[in-house]
Amino acid sequence: MYAWKRELLTFAALFAGGGRPRAAGGDVSRVPVVEFQAADSRTETAIGEGLTRLARAAGRLRVDTAVGKYAVAHDDGCGVCGVAVAAGDTFYLDSDAGEILCETHGRERRGEDD
Ligand SMILES: [Zn+2]
Repeated sequence: MYAWKRELLTFAALFAGGGRPRAAGGDVSRVPVVEFQAADSRTETAIGEGLTRLARAAGRLRVDTAVGKYAVAHDDGCGVCGVAVAAGDTFYLDSDAGEILCETHGRERRGEDD
């Protein structure tokens, strides 16, 4: 019973970790800030199925969009400085805070979190 439960929690933590990003020390549950290298448009960017949980946790998951089956919404721009995300821009998603961050503030937050 306990082993089964732990297994499930481990899986959930791994899944929440999404793609590449990993925290120093390997605690994937502490990596809420995901980097996106190039936005698809000013308002949303297509994501893989593996990131849908993070996008949903942030309240930013969009389904069946113009850019793809799953997308993360970022039409409100950076949560710190308010700068808009343009197509082709690097941006970050802080799934804990539910915020989009520009390249500068995304890097800053990831640095602080590590
Ligand atoms: Zn910013």
